[in-house]
Amino acid sequence: MKRIYLDHAATTPVDPRVFELMRHYFSEHFGNPASRTHAFGWEAEEAIETARAQVAALLGVEPRAVVWTSGATESINTALQGLAWPASPGPYHLITTRAEHSAARDTCLALERRGVDVTWLGVDAHGRLDLAELRGAIRPETRVVSILHANNETGVVQDLAAIGALCRERGVLLHADVTQSLGKIPLALSDWGVDLASASAHKLCGPKGVGALYLRRRDPRVVLEPLLYGGGQERGLRSGTSNVPGIVGFGAAAALALGEMAQESIRVAALRDRLEAGLTHSHPELVRNGSGVERLPGLANVRFDGVGSEALLLALPAIALSAGSACASASLEPSHVLLAMGQSEAEARGAVRFSLGRTTTDEEIDATIGLVSAAVSRLCSTGG
Ligand SMILES: *Cc1c(COP(=O)(O)O)cnc(C)c1O
Repeated sequence: MKRIYLDHAATTPVDPRVFELMRHYFSEHFGNPASRTHAFGWEAEEAIETARAQVAALLGVEPRAVVWTSGATESINTALQGLAWPASPGPYHLITTRAEHSAARDTCLALERRGVDVTWLGVDAHGRLDLAELRGAIRPETRVVSILHANNETGVVQDLAAIGALCRERGVLLHADVTQSLGKIPLALSDWGVDLASASAHKLCGPKGVGALYLRRRDPRVVLEPLLYGGGQERGLRSGTSNVPGIVGFGAAAALALGEMAQESIRVAALRDRLEAGLTHSHPELVRNGSGVERLPGLANVRFDGVGSEALLLALPAIALSAGSACASASLEPSHVLLAMGQSEAEARGAVRFSLGRTTTDEEIDATIGLVSAAVSRLCSTGG
């Protein structure tokens, strides 16, 4: 049975062009960039600085504002915990939403357990944050607003430029989780007034285990306490020997995404639209979650009335799909994102996420429409 991978929001295959570049940094160019006394170190350092410029260009920030981490989870934890435990503690109020990725959500919950004041804003039925509500939640002691730019379950995109302008006006820092949007839609984080941002290589055809944390260097300069202490790498913000092959891979993946984004987003959005149209044609009762607002090109989150996502996924062994997010599929909890959008538990339990990417073909989408339509019809007729 030929397998079809439609779970690119969970992770992506490493692009062969990225892998080819990375290979050399495991073997012949194995140096430690912190080695200042010989060419092995210098060439490794040059490689991670090239990658820094490549990732910075995709984020729309200056290269020296990018810090390498092990992934978006570490970046988010460093950003939110690092701001909460500064050398000179003061009141720390944080504003976020009820529709965040678990990496940010669980970090905020942990901060809350340790006494940090957290405001959890709701989202509307489309999954969008209300700016007036955000404005009303900002207080004199508010330090940071943390927002998921593009939702990993629905693909819904928040208006980061408008949120950034508001945070600037009120003198509040803005952290954005851009893990899903990086490489999919154009980002201009510095111009938008974003002060901190978290991203990961493996969502854009780069390797797993490497991420980036953007920290604005001036106007204002973001100061935070690191999570990891040691050799003082990454300007003391992230000690530990750099993952050189991973960083080189992240850089290469960013450069490819920057060059191909314009064409690729049109191709992937057309495939996604064809998938939704095909499924709607066979099952007009299909409900699209998060449609009608700006969303990522490759994401479709849908529900077929009366069909549970678990039963549907089990009926489709050839297609790699997810019910909600990959992180939530280990638990049987309904999606907190869909609940925040006002859906009932039963509705949320019907959600299936299709996430398309660089390897997705026309043939795969046609086969998927056929297989999913047949499975839904079977489940409906057996009362599944
Ligand atoms: C995947 C993902 C993360 C976690 O990234 P890791 O690099 O796997 O730690 C965080 N936020 C969003 C929106 C994601 O999609």
